[in-house]
Amino acid sequence: MRNAPTILHLDMDAFFASAEQASKPSLRGKAVVVGGLGPRGVVATASYEARVFGVHSAMPMAQARRLAPNAAYLVPRGGFYKLISEQVMGLLQALSPLVEPLSLDEAFVDLEAGQAAWDEASARLAGIKLRADIRAVTGLTGSVGLAASKMLAKIASEQAKPDGLVVIEPGTERALLGPMPVRTLPGVGPATGDHLRRAGISTVDELAEAGEAELVRLLGKAHGHALYAMALAHDERPVVAERETKSVSVEDTYDVDIHDRGRVGAEVQRLADRCVRRLRGAGLSGRTIVLKVRRYDFSTLTRSETLRGPTDDPGVVREAAARLLEAVDTTGGVRLLGVGVSGLADFTQEDLFAQAAGELAALEPVEEAEHEGGEQPHEQPAERRWTTGHDVRHADFGHGWVQGSGLGRVTVRFETPQSEQPGRVRTFRTDDPALEPADPLPLVAVAPRRPDGPDEELSDQASSVPASLPKSWSGNGGGGATSRP
Ligand SMILES: [Mg+2]
Repeated sequence: MRNAPTILHLDMDAFFASAEQASKPSLRGKAVVVGGLGPRGVVATASYEARVFGVHSAMPMAQARRLAPNAAYLVPRGGFYKLISEQVMGLLQALSPLVEPLSLDEAFVDLEAGQAAWDEASARLAGIKLRADIRAVTGLTGSVGLAASKMLAKIASEQAKPDGLVVIEPGTERALLGPMPVRTLPGVGPATGDHLRRAGISTVDELAEAGEAELVRLLGKAHGHALYAMALAHDERPVVAERETKSVSVEDTYDVDIHDRGRVGAEVQRLADRCVRRLRGAGLSGRTIVLKVRRYDFSTLTRSETLRGPTDDPGVVREAAARLLEAVDTTGGVRLLGVGVSGLADFTQEDLFAQAAGELAALEPVEEAEHEGGEQPHEQPAERRWTTGHDVRHADFGHGWVQGSGLGRVTVRFETPQSEQPGRVRTFRTDDPALEPADPLPLVAVAPRRPDGPDEELSDQASSVPASLPKSWSGNGGGGATSRP
């Protein structure tokens, strides 16, 4: 492990909800819940004001509504969050070639690899500057953890939340981790946590005291070994760029082609188990299950299935592999079989895992439970659907967002990220020709271009920020101009 806290973990604070509050002044300081509003919807992100009521990520939306009936419930604007994410990831890439995104709003950065930091003081400065740049460019806050390993950098950013920075100095890791609950460690979900508690182990210190042999006995070789290392604060995992290309896979070549379909199925199950053991051993989970089959004539097929969220559950991987095998013709014989998992994610604590699952579920197309009560809703073109929280433009009143719709009416609040006060609310017929869906506006005002000025001439505000707007926001945004660093 390195001896300087030069691994940075960034996590934006209540990302989707904060983005909504920043773009809708009337929601600032209020409970905001972003997620699927349909019957099976789950919470993707709750604002800190909503968390006070016990609302959290991955909770069924119906339960959230019972806990916080007065919160604003919004459908995610995936494209909008992606634009902000691109801005944030752009700032991280300016620090180092080694940036490992974990989700839209979370990433590890190896500051040393980018020569952005080499010791504690320089790492701290880089973290402070990064947080300021994120604020300047996106208008949002992110929390930063700095440590000598990925595991501790992530623990540090969790401690820093919201809107903070925490450095874990090398040498202090074990003292810091010791009293923490075992669930703090990556890979310890509720099931492992319960299992350990029954064995009398509830803190990281107790894990370390139990010793490696005991942990291997309790949890199996790979998991026990990995957990013991983490309890001692040993984590040598490097920051890896472009993790989506990585995968964990196992395969077997058979001396004699397998003809029996039952035997092929059994082999696939065995390979799935082996693959999961490797996955867990590496402290990872993944979303995409891949089956590889080489037939008697050396033709090789791969089939894959992507799950809603990352898994390291042997049952889930076995089932997916079996489903994939169903679609493959193996008559004639099989000479090689393989099972892999890609789309890897760090195996994280249950709530973080759940957050990722909720995020993915929420970003999938949402089926609204509520129909707009127009006479012939099925004849309305898709763009005439007014989704709660999404942007609109009215010919007379300008930019706003849909606060609700139903019974042939749509209620719009007219405000922009730059409005100083909550905007006015007006209600229209859903087929009002003056009302149109609109693109989201950038959260940070773009410096106006001087009509005769050269492109390079920028205002102080624009030139002080190191990243430009994503292309989709450049050159429009109400007649503004984009900035170039
Ligand atoms: Mg976050």
